[in-house]
Amino acid sequence: MENIAFIGLGNMGGPMAVNLLNKGFKVSAFDLSAEALAKVAAAGGRAASSAADAIDGASVVISMLPAGKHVQGLYLGDDGLFAKLPKGTLIIDCSTIDAGAARKVAEAAQAQGLAMLDAPVSGGTAGAAAGTLTFIVGGEAGDLARARPVLEAMGKNIFHAGGPGAGQTAKICNNMLLGILMAGTAEALALGVKNGLDPKVLSEIISKSSGRNWATELYNPWPGVMENVPASRNYAGGFMSELMLKDLGLAEETALQSHASNPLGALARNLYEEHVQQGNGKLDFSSIVKHFHTLN
Ligand code: NAD
Repeated sequence: MENIAFIGLGNMGGPMAVNLLNKGFKVSAFDLSAEALAKVAAAGGRAASSAADAIDGASVVISMLPAGKHVQGLYLGDDGLFAKLPKGTLIIDCSTIDAGAARKVAEAAQAQGLAMLDAPVSGGTAGAAAGTLTFIVGGEAGDLARARPVLEAMGKNIFHAGGPGAGQTAKICNNMLLGILMAGTAEALALGVKNGLDPKVLSEIISKSSGRNWATELYNPWPGVMENVPASRNYAGGFMSELMLKDLGLAEETALQSHASNPLGALARNLYEEHVQQGNGKLDFSSIVKHFHTLN
């Protein structure tokens, strides 16, 4: 069984590391936040004092960090982990970052004799806790075969999107659509409420009609409609609006670079830009409802 170093134990990485522990993997964990580290230590992980300490004895390194700059900072450069890892180590970056950065990191890994996969996830914090994430993987098929037992401890669906960076490209397409769907769902619910409808009844109607989507079925943005979603706990936890803004920016950069048209993605990015600038960056992305309706 692989020995795992897990770096980045936030809303997603924390429960993912706990699932690895529950499935019998040895996990050395590190996060800049002592609070996040303590939760994984309480579940049986070794609390490392730094990322370099976490990789001691590890055959697989998993990272779950906010953005590309954190991933590059962790692995590249004289102080980066690539300079310290033994040849043959498998690195699985589960963060959502731009495909260009993912390819750059993968090339640097290869140059050091390391194996690297980009493996961003879908399924939210509930999927991370339940071990039902979808992994969207870019890299060599042989490296994915090696990673599979580790990924299966944290997820249910594993897709091979293509070579290095392809996992990130697929993930960004998905999240652009998610941002559009969440904003659209919030707009539709606000329109109904403004016209006297009960948001719960309207949500049930949409869930059984042609407007249904992941938000209406599993992640309703309106407070009180669904239990156990961020909307019903003042938008705490979940997927922060600032991270959705990052992903919509990545989609826009990808569209620019490839001369693709993405008018709806661009509109969603602008909505989230305003939303974040209004101080909602740390709130879950379903709080975009506030853009359409004043909540009490
Ligand atoms: P988060 O902010 O809750 O967690 C990130 C963690 O990384 C934090 O605990 C932070 O302290 C830690 N960190 C940052 N730099 C570090 C470093 N150099 N060394 C060690 N730890 C460091 O974010 P999250 O919601 O867990 O998201 C992580 C990634 O997963 C992001 O790329 C996000 O886009 C993606 N994602 C999130 C969700 C979701 O629903 N939250 C779903 C799918 C994908």
